[in-house]
Amino acid sequence: MELTLNRISPENQKNPPASMEGVVFGTVFSNHMFSMVWDDGIGWHDAEIKPYQPLVLDPSTIVLHYGQSSFEGLKAYRNPSGGINLFRPRENFLRMNRTAQRMCLPELDIDFVLGALKQLLQEDSDWVPKEEGTSLYIRPTKLATQEALGLKVSSKYLFYIILSPVGPYYPEGFNPVKIVVSDQYVRATPGGVGEAKTAGNYAACNLAEKQAQAQGFTQVLWLDAVERKYIEEVGSMNIFFVIDDEIVTPQLNGTILPGITRKSVLELARHWDLKTSERRISIDEVLEGLESGRVSEVFGAGTAAVISPVGLLHYRGQSSQVGDGQTGPVAKRFFEHLTAIQYGRENDPFGWVETV
Ligand SMILES: *Cc1c(COP(=O)(O)O)cnc(C)c1O
Repeated sequence: MELTLNRISPENQKNPPASMEGVVFGTVFSNHMFSMVWDDGIGWHDAEIKPYQPLVLDPSTIVLHYGQSSFEGLKAYRNPSGGINLFRPRENFLRMNRTAQRMCLPELDIDFVLGALKQLLQEDSDWVPKEEGTSLYIRPTKLATQEALGLKVSSKYLFYIILSPVGPYYPEGFNPVKIVVSDQYVRATPGGVGEAKTAGNYAACNLAEKQAQAQGFTQVLWLDAVERKYIEEVGSMNIFFVIDDEIVTPQLNGTILPGITRKSVLELARHWDLKTSERRISIDEVLEGLESGRVSEVFGAGTAAVISPVGLLHYRGQSSQVGDGQTGPVAKRFFEHLTAIQYGRENDPFGWVETV
């Protein structure tokens, strides 16, 4: 497939923010976007890089009613020689293809979309910020665009990629968050779509997250839907525990989103010869472990924050502090090494980084 380049006219060009200080996550977008469309019987066509612009959708468009869609999130980082690094971008497009199978969306040719993303990044390369801890957030999105209120699989789709410069996730430093364990709501059920990165999963979490924030907690930690006993994940991060010097995280069971940061933490831990295990972890095991000191650290892992230390867990009206409530050495070690690899400050023994 050919890729058409339709550059923004000079009079419409915007400049990237002079500083990322005070820029709210995901509110500023670069000059260009990539898009292509799918029609049944034709496949993907009309691939182009064009000026960033609104979508025009008929009010009956399937995605607006029935949510047939998928998205991804990854980042481009400015490396010390002034170039641009991508962190495991193929993993994101592979995951998007797995989401596509579950949501009846057409799959992508990974080499083609990765090539298109790199070309888009070259066009808007000055939008990759240079300040410490900043990056360019990349949002690939796919949605069902057939105009029809009938409940069915769409025959038309749009795929696009937009770019948003983002500031450091921790402007005030790497501080632990307080999270509440939900025993009232669930995020995903066995056989459902929990492992797909699809819009409805996030809408389903909003109420619990809103209530958590009203009580002073940053996030919700979800338990399994069947027994309401086993730890699953946080709304946009996977969760890790340091238990007796072992790095423990819930196993991928179909209801948990298979995070690329999660996978990288496990691979890094094995590279360092730390003990790791992916298994069921009950909330009781965690609370007893916090009490006895066997659980020394809890942290989240996801693209946005990379590593997010947890200082306190709140469950059924009771709060349990994690360690001394401060960031622990294991979380700090993962954060420092993962970000050093992403920004190209440290050599990458895994081949995770692709330069643009
Ligand atoms: C995206 C996401 C994650 C983290 O995945 P990464 O690939 O590490 O960014 C974790 N949980 C949920 C629900 C997510 O949507």
